[in-house]
Amino acid sequence: MVQKARLLATGAGVAGLSLNGCLGRAARPEPVRRRPVNLVPVDASWDRIIRTTVGLRPHRDSGFLLRAEKFDDKTIVHNFGHGGAGMSLSWGTATLAAELALAHSERSAAVLGCGIVGLTTARQLQRRGFSVSIYAAALPPATTSNMSLASFTPTSGLVGVRGRTPEWDAQFRRAVEISYREHQLLVGRDYGVTWIDEYAATNSAGAQTGVRGGAGGRGAPSPAQAQSDALLPPSVELGRELLREGEHPFATRYARRYPTLRFEPSIYLDAIMRDVITFGGRIVMRRFDTPRDIALLQENVIVNCTGLGSKTLFNDPELIPVKGQLVVLVPQPEVTYATSNMLPRSDGIVLGHVMQSGVANMDVDEEARTRVVDAAIAFFRSMRMPARAGSGDRGREDGNVQLRTGEAPAQIPPVESFFGRQS
Ligand SMILES: Cc1cc2nc3c(=O)[nH]c(=O)nc-3n(C[C@H](O)[C@H](O)[C@H](O)COP(=O)(O)OP(=O)(O)OC[C@H]3O[C@@H](n4cnc5c(N)ncnc54)[C@H](O)[C@@H]3O)c2cc1C
Repeated sequence: MVQKARLLATGAGVAGLSLNGCLGRAARPEPVRRRPVNLVPVDASWDRIIRTTVGLRPHRDSGFLLRAEKFDDKTIVHNFGHGGAGMSLSWGTATLAAELALAHSERSAAVLGCGIVGLTTARQLQRRGFSVSIYAAALPPATTSNMSLASFTPTSGLVGVRGRTPEWDAQFRRAVEISYREHQLLVGRDYGVTWIDEYAATNSAGAQTGVRGGAGGRGAPSPAQAQSDALLPPSVELGRELLREGEHPFATRYARRYPTLRFEPSIYLDAIMRDVITFGGRIVMRRFDTPRDIALLQENVIVNCTGLGSKTLFNDPELIPVKGQLVVLVPQPEVTYATSNMLPRSDGIVLGHVMQSGVANMDVDEEARTRVVDAAIAFFRSMRMPARAGSGDRGREDGNVQLRTGEAPAQIPPVESFFGRQS
């Protein structure tokens, strides 16, 4: 028996040797060359700007608050503080909030807030048999959610380095998994949710790992970002391809490519609002100044999704604004890819990113606008132009690309700092 096993092993070894020997001569480890990617550069210029928007992300160092409180007959479930990740996490935290609401015996609920968190919470309550009324001071398109970029960035600007608990981590992981699945099911159904390839141009071939929606293909993440990226479940990780020189049109040595989920806020929020109404929901415009105003509501199950509004309404000292600003250029339907600082949408080419912690004013920051627009102009001018189909150069097949005129690659900003988008 032992002898037979030895013989088999020897045979395998001999076969392996000869096979390896052949391979060693015939197939030197050459890098696989991909067909060059043909991407249309964004036509970035100051005279193509159609609007600049400002929004305040609701950030808490310890992460979103998801907790039920009892006041006599009433239960208030808090679901706020999603930082730069509310568009990504909303379906998940909405599910957890609806589960907390189910502990109450009544099946009529008030949802405070009509941003993405309030709307998805309303739907998750409806799916569990609640009749729902949304009360909000502002409705889409006038919510922070409408001012988001927005793609699947479940850890962006979400937590600080301290304050998280193991319980919160568990909530977060569950919320990510649920949200990721829910968003996938909305693709192709008029919700403005689509998959798109994102490219991170870089001079470093390392750091291929990284987390979708978190640090992504950018430079080194902040300590808080790195910590929350590490929490992401493997199920939301998709492969990243490293494209080498000649395989991509950017003025860098490499580009990393990975698929990401994109949300078009104006389509997405309206679609969910319509769903809430279709399933019997009511939407009432009302501002609450104190918790006493809320106590007067007829519903005994109340889910608080007021985002940054919770700072004053529920006196949460931990909640702080993180100002964001987007510059939107004329739409370019031929731009079908994202870069770490640009997301094409049907309502415009959106450029980010600005993250100003603790800044609560809604004024356009001209310095930040200049930085973002000038960087985009330099970046897209440095891209190689795609070959024209039918021009005789057969560029689409053989990757014959032309340099855009007038820009020396040396003039573009350092890529690792330009590609700092989180959300
Ligand atoms: C520039 C920018 C880019 C972003 N990009 C992304 C991204 O790529 N991916 C991502 O996942 N997230 C992104 N975000 C973050 C995302 O937009 C937020 O996390 C999300 O919008 C928070 O949703 P919300 O429903 O909690 O808050 P909001 O949208 O602000 O909604 C709050 C609701 O509560 C109501 N309300 C508040 N106070 C009161 C009150 N006292 N009485 C009555 N009603 C009240 C408001 O009127 C509103 O209806 C971005 C944000 C910004 C600013």
